Amino acid sequence: MKGAPRSSQFDDIYFSAEDGLAETRHVFFNGNDLPHAWEGKDSFTIAETGFGTGLNFLAVWKLFEENAAPTQTLDFISVEKYPLTPGEISTALEPWKDQLGDRIDILTQQYPLRVNGFHRIKINQQITLTLIFDDIADAFPQITAAVDCWFLDGFTPAKNPDMWSRYVFQQMARLSKKGASYATFTAAGDVRRGLQEAGFSVEKKKGFGHKRDMIAGSYLNQGMPHSKPLHKKSRIAIIGGGLAGTACAYVLKQYGYEPVIYEASQTLASGASGNERGFFNPRFSKHRDGMANFFIAAYAQFIRLARQAGENIEYNPCGALHLMTTPEKQERFKEMQENWGWHDDHMRLLDKEQASETAGIPQAYGALFLPDSGSVSPQKLCAYYAKDIEVRYNSPIENLAEVAADAIILCNASQAASFDCLSWLTLEEVRGQVTKIAANEKTAKIKSNIHYGGYISCPQDGSNVIGATFQKWIGHTDILEEDHDRNLTHMQEAVPFLSDQIFEVTTGWAGIRTASNDRFPLVGAVPGLDRLYISCAFGSHGIVGSHAAAHYIADLIRDGTVSLSQDASNALIPQRFLERAKKKQGMVS
Ligand code: SAM
Repeated sequence: MKGAPRSSQFDDIYFSAEDGLAETRHVFFNGNDLPHAWEGKDSFTIAETGFGTGLNFLAVWKLFEENAAPTQTLDFISVEKYPLTPGEISTALEPWKDQLGDRIDILTQQYPLRVNGFHRIKINQQITLTLIFDDIADAFPQITAAVDCWFLDGFTPAKNPDMWSRYVFQQMARLSKKGASYATFTAAGDVRRGLQEAGFSVEKKKGFGHKRDMIAGSYLNQGMPHSKPLHKKSRIAIIGGGLAGTACAYVLKQYGYEPVIYEASQTLASGASGNERGFFNPRFSKHRDGMANFFIAAYAQFIRLARQAGENIEYNPCGALHLMTTPEKQERFKEMQENWGWHDDHMRLLDKEQASETAGIPQAYGALFLPDSGSVSPQKLCAYYAKDIEVRYNSPIENLAEVAADAIILCNASQAASFDCLSWLTLEEVRGQVTKIAANEKTAKIKSNIHYGGYISCPQDGSNVIGATFQKWIGHTDILEEDHDRNLTHMQEAVPFLSDQIFEVTTGWAGIRTASNDRFPLVGAVPGLDRLYISCAFGSHGIVGSHAAAHYIADLIRDGTVSLSQDASNALIPQRFLERAKKKQGMVS
């Protein structure tokens, strides 16, 4: 007999105490007629309520690999309010190590940061997992997908009615294709009635082990349309070889596409992505709105990539302190921490003493601390993304009609607005200069990056980086002495412990970042044109933003489950600028 872990919140077990894997096969596979149900379908989407240990996911991943054609793809979506740790998952699944093989390790290595929101895990070209850490009632309305099959696996309805509410069943109906199947271990009367009301048939079947009944059925109404994705092996032209472009190429390749980068200059990362050291953080906002959800998903996802890429991208996970230099900032960070609901492991408020301890040098202010934050080399990150990608250098594109490709993605920052099809778009350019100093006795002791509007980094290769200016009015990238002074003065105001120091400036670097005039990135389909996409205007959050944007664009191209919550994808939508431009024109004429 195999053991079964128990949830303390619900006083219930994650799967059958008799044999969890056998239960999965009986209830969810037989109940949904798997693997037969995916025969002849290019792509198949399963959604689950309650990820728990991931046993169902791992079992269906194995079944898919054993039974589907290599060209078929599986999207698996699962929602989990109380994510287990990777260690707890490994322990719980130990009894099936032989059967599930190294899939358990792959899942635990790729397991997301346990912060609320959408997490995309690309297992391999065939299998895509969208894991949503949230309450089901908040998560379900945010999903964009067309579901073929449901695994209803919340704890028993008597102990956890939230997972079996009328609202959940209505959302299932919204997301189902016609004929979508479902199966569940329970046969409770309320569940049967709720599913029927929402448009599903209900059939009683023999339950697993000692259980008398279970139910299964299918969606009887019209449902979500079947998609017409762009075929794999399609050629995707990417205009621009900075972070946005190389990230798109890297990610699209993972989904089986053939990306080609067209770069106007003779190197990658020739623009704002050419910085030697870049710092990654989510973009802060007090409320947990769509933009916060985008940057949270992006941050959590980028950290997994950075851990994997490691030294290749000079990943330095030293953490980041965000100083609360004013009472307003202190209030804002406190509210943000409450609204975001992150576990202490990933975000905590520190008083002055704790901040000093974490920083390695005395601090004048308390701070918000993000232990998973750090820095990478954006230049090396671009090279890492583009490692196996065809890049055409010295290839400025002036006319999109010249480009032979099945889809085009514009990743050329503010230049994107120079194409006729985007004449309505206004983008801003913001110059930023950073200052590199030789680490001295005091700055050599810094243990975490310290942010205060600007930042001073912990030492790496004997130097600290101090940045960055923010100048909309200067359009060149020459190094300016007064900008070094500005960076140093700003830093010394925020970190008075360093105010008596004379610094040896060794080098500097300046770049032009692109921002939109509402400060949100633009990611998605270019309105009015088929198969043309854009990813730009990440401001100072290009490292995390460009990577999540790439997954989102891949979802649009493949017409698959969307890796972002609906409020996040709505906030990114390029259409918003077209509408504003039209409104403005209407007002003028
Ligand atoms: N499918 C899982 C597996 O393969 O291990 C077992 C799922 S377990 C029976 C039910 C899961 O639902 C638990 O992990 C629990 O934390 C989660 N859960 C309970 N209430 C929830 C809610 N309101 N929203 C999202 N998840 C919830």
